Amino acid sequence: MKTIGLLGGMSWESTAVYYQIANQLVRERMGGLNSANILLDSLNFAEVAKLQQADEWSQAAELLARHATRLERAGADMILICTNTMHLLYDRVRDAVGVPVLHIGDTVAAAAQDQGVHKVGLLGTAFTMEKEFFRDRIEGHGLEVIVPDPADRALVHRAIFEELAVGIISDSTRAMFRRIMGQLVAAGAQGIILGCTEIELIVGSEDCTVPVFPTAKIHIEAAVDAALGEEVSSEPQ
Ligand code: GLU
Repeated sequence: MKTIGLLGGMSWESTAVYYQIANQLVRERMGGLNSANILLDSLNFAEVAKLQQADEWSQAAELLARHATRLERAGADMILICTNTMHLLYDRVRDAVGVPVLHIGDTVAAAAQDQGVHKVGLLGTAFTMEKEFFRDRIEGHGLEVIVPDPADRALVHRAIFEELAVGIISDSTRAMFRRIMGQLVAAGAQGIILGCTEIELIVGSEDCTVPVFPTAKIHIEAAVDAALGEEVSSEPQ
């Protein structure tokens, strides 16, 4: 079994999901006392969020690249950036190391395609919904992406940073996510990408009439497939 390197802490609330699912999957597939080989480098999210807000992406890239290098040196056979937003810096991280960095967008696009979904609604931080890096990656796989209107994007962004990433799960915010997902479905979305690793902490398939794609779960599933020598989704052509 290969060693999965997690670049986590963004936030730790969702990195815990990666750790738990990796171990559950290895137990399911290998049985007994088997568990996943994992290296976790967990960043202080306050420092990362400060760089995001200040638009200091180059400094953030240096930080992530430095930690990815540390994971590689420690023996990681592959690296996962455990946040959608920081895939904005994917190329910088990938170029800093010699081991594969599994792109979260590739894994989620493959999952959507497996379910025959073509048009997806995307929820995430404002960075993920409004900048091009994530949408382009998904569209590179032939999918169409729609996002909520500006007022709802602001609500989702606020809920991520002020509630979900600090461990607050409330019924009113769950209702807000349900409403926004319903509107995306009404606008033609055949599936919803929970494109922030904290969103799956509050909503799931039971909250929506179309398939939802929880990115942390899908990302780590692909890593476990790779760790156990199974096929992984590839980059768009
Ligand atoms: N975990 C979130 C994501 O998947 C947001 C954290 C961040 O801004 O990096 O995008």
